[in-house]
Amino acid sequence: MKCPVCGGSASPTGKEFKFGVFDGKQHKCEACGKTFNAFYRDGKFTHTVPKAK
Ligand SMILES: [Zn+2]
Repeated sequence: MKCPVCGGSASPTGKEFKFGVFDGKQHKCEACGKTFNAFYRDGKFTHTVPKAK
């Protein structure tokens, strides 16, 4: 997974959740240390949302 903030390499944290029709998976970027959520619909990746602090 590519970090939406810096484009670095991010790994899943293991945190998963439901958001309406989407499945969300939290990722953490190894390069900048930010966390963000990646959303999937019907098993297909749709978009990422950087986590607001
Ligand atoms: Zn990053």
